[in-house]
Parts: sequence; C-alpha cells; structure tokens
Amino acid sequence: MNNPGAKEENNIYYDECVILKSSPYGESDRLVTVFSKNLGKKNLLAKGACKPGSKLCGFTDSLSVLNYAPKATRTFTLITQPKIVSPLFHIKEMGASFYKAYAMCELVSRAAEFDNKMPEIYDALKNSLIIMDLMTSDDEAASEKVLIKFELFFLEYAGFSLNFENCCHCGKTLSGEFIYDSGAGGITCARCALGRREAEVAQDAAGLIKKITKETDLKKIIGENYSINTLGAALALVKKHIKANLNIVLTSADIA
Ligand SMILES: [Zn+2]
Repeated sequence: MNNPGAKEENNIYYDECVILKSSPYGESDRLVTVFSKNLGKKNLLAKGACKPGSKLCGFTDSLSVLNYAPKATRTFTLITQPKIVSPLFHIKEMGASFYKAYAMCELVSRAAEFDNKMPEIYDALKNSLIIMDLMTSDDEAASEKVLIKFELFFLEYAGFSLNFENCCHCGKTLSGEFIYDSGAGGITCARCALGRREAEVAQDAAGLIKKITKETDLKKIIGENYSINTLGAALALVKKHIKANLNIVLTSADIA
C-alpha cells in the first residue's frame, strides 16, 4: 500500500484514527467514517463487525481512538488488526464534555474533504479529546476552552484566523476596540462598522480569543480563569467566524 506517512512493522502499515461515525452496512458489516492521521477523512469498512464474536466487535464505536492496519480493496479500505488507543469513556459519560468533544468531531467531519491528509489537525483533535477525557469532573468551562482552542487552530490551518490587527473592510490598523462583523467574517474598525447591521461590539470575547490564539500550551489555557459569560461569548463568536468563513453551522455545541 502506498502510504508513506504510516508506521510500518513487519511489512504491515498501521494508522491511527478517531471514529466520527459508525453505522450498520449490509448484513454484518459496519461502515465507519474516521478522521485518520495518515489518510484524512475516510470511510472504512469493518467487515463482519456486527457478527457476534467478531474480531472487530466493540472496535467501531463512535468517538474512540483506534489503531488499525488499513487494507485497501477494490471497493473499500478495510479495518484490520484494530487496537483501541483510547475508548474516551469519561467523555462519553459526561454530558457537557461529550457535546464539546462532539463539536470538535463535527467541525472536522464537515470541514475536511475526504482523503485530504491533515496530520496536524489529527494530532490536535486527538490531544484535545484525550485531555477532555482526563478531566475528572464534568468541567464545562475547561472543555469549552479546549473546544475554542481546537476551533481556532482549525481556522488558522484553513487560513481563516481572526485578524486582530487590521480592519477586515478598509485594512486600517485597529485601535484595540473589537467589533465583529459576522456579515463580513472579520473584525472591523468603528468607522466601517457604521450602518453594518451584523457588526457588534465583542470586546471581551475577542480579547479572550486573542489570548487563546497566542497561547500554545493547552494546560495553561485550561488553567486561566475566565468568566462563564466571556467564554460563552467567545464560543459564539468563533462559531460565527466558522459560519462566515467555512460556511458551516455547527449544531452540536448548542445541545448541552
Ligand atoms: Zn475599516
């Protein structure tokens, strides 16, 4: 298999993936949509996974991190030799974290093209999920910070970072007053904001986003104290930015 990014052991290539979606396929198989480190977003077939006693039984649950050996066939790439890296049990038990974790998967699932490799995004997603899973209590604020950081990282990767320096309309240097124009998908100066119905002052939210954008250490981000209101406003602003620039309306983060 021509797959230079994958780990090779005894001539078998291994890959790692986060399972985004898993559904029954035919009589005894499961069709599994994964975000894989080496293959990007991909539909894989877990052959015979629905049969009792199958080797793949229990390895195809959504929101698990799986190590496996992809085996290409004429139709599907098959999951073989599965090994769970992390079942993410805690996330699945905790309401608020679950929806934040699911929101990260939803972003990847909807924004990533099939077969487009994004190993940096894979690593960020996996690390974010594992950090959420290690949280001992259902710490909503902490999981919100992890979600915001992941979304900002994804936006940066896609080339849609928030520009805090220049007005998105006229390009003039911003004075430090942050007004977000969701119609234009960027921060605008006060002058250009006049008459634009979708422009709104977002001082605290933008300030928080600017801070989180600059900080690379996720543990430091989690350790910072932000008010619940500011966090909520920042989440909403990032969501608007995703909608304006990636044309994706995320639904999952609202459920909790
Ligand atoms: Zn302007």
